[in-house]
Amino acid sequence: MKIHEYQARELFAAYGLPVDQAYICRNVEDAVRAYHDLDAPLVVVKAQVHTGGRGKAGGVKLAKDEIELRQHVANILWMDINGFIVDRVLIGKAVNIASEYYVSYVIDRKTKSTILMVSREGGMDIEEVARTSPEKIHKIPIDPLIGVPDYLAREAAFKLFDDIKLVRKTATIFQKLYKLFIDTDASLAEINPLVLTEEGEIKAIDAKMTFDDNAIYRHPKIAALYEPTEEEKKEQNAKSKGFSYVHLGGQIGCMVNGAGLAMATMDMIKLYGGEPANFLDIGGSSNPTKVIEAMRLLLSDKNVKVVLINIFGGITRCDDVARGLLEAFNQIKTDIPIVIRLTGTNEKEGRALLEGSRFHLAETMGEAGKKAVELAN
Ligand code: GDP
Ligand code: MN
Repeated sequence: MKIHEYQARELFAAYGLPVDQAYICRNVEDAVRAYHDLDAPLVVVKAQVHTGGRGKAGGVKLAKDEIELRQHVANILWMDINGFIVDRVLIGKAVNIASEYYVSYVIDRKTKSTILMVSREGGMDIEEVARTSPEKIHKIPIDPLIGVPDYLAREAAFKLFDDIKLVRKTATIFQKLYKLFIDTDASLAEINPLVLTEEGEIKAIDAKMTFDDNAIYRHPKIAALYEPTEEEKKEQNAKSKGFSYVHLGGQIGCMVNGAGLAMATMDMIKLYGGEPANFLDIGGSSNPTKVIEAMRLLLSDKNVKVVLINIFGGITRCDDVARGLLEAFNQIKTDIPIVIRLTGTNEKEGRALLEGSRFHLAETMGEAGKKAVELAN
């Protein structure tokens, strides 16, 4: 689960991490009030969205007077950043940056542990640094039984600073951030950038946290910050109807009974060069209302060009499924081509029922996948 920067800043502050006070505003007038309250020569306006790269997208701006502030807030509010619409901005005192550093705790699969990642090349291009000069990013594995003792924190801090005073300050930051990371069952706690100011202070001017969904029940205060995306809302709605649905973004909508078969269906689509629009397991049963609900869900995705229905009749009989499908498609009006592969108990009877209908029938998985991809192209 993701939270916004301003929410992560509050957690940071509660753990004694060096973040400045900031305001959260949903319109220009609120921002102007915040600006006057801050009474600073320079303020920063920052888009609050569940995605990174805000700076590059124009979602982080400095303002030196009220006129500039109004302009930036008006421009940033309702901006689209990587598909996320900005509905609030953070207004804070701008910091005079001398240099920017990267700091994060993240779960690392390779070492099967939490790692502390630090780099002198912090700021907006950390992904670029990771690609072109990975040796500039230091990864320090953390033993969960030992945590981050002083010596380890200092050793890590020496990767960023040579001055012992700065090393000591930074080491404490590493320890506090680790405590926060562990206490909240986070999967990421990131400060990018951690900055050294012109005045010689160390400050976190960005804060990013994500949490392990499986542990979120242990943290009701964090759980309350959950803001589902449009896709997540759709997935939850599907869940409430007994489906397991995951949006994937391709053009071939899949309706399958059984999770394993749904996975195999997606593989088959990929094998023939197509992209599945979703994973959808509708479970057992040939109930037409369920098929209608599932079709509505698939067709609400505007990328879907073809629907592939892959049903294995085990306990459910294929002729029942065929009758259910015919009934369902009497009610759903759509021009989208439908490929159906029915196999298992009473498959001949089932296929016979669908013969002469508008459906494209396939006997094998391969045939179904191939046909769906052809139709999508
Ligand atoms: P991100 O692009 O979404 O990661 O947003 P950040 O909060 O990291 O901001 C992007 C960049 O804006 C930072 O790397 C800084 O260079 C700059 N920036 C952010 N806040 C300030 C500030 O208070 N003062 C100055 N001078 N620059 C800032
Ligand atoms: Mn950042």
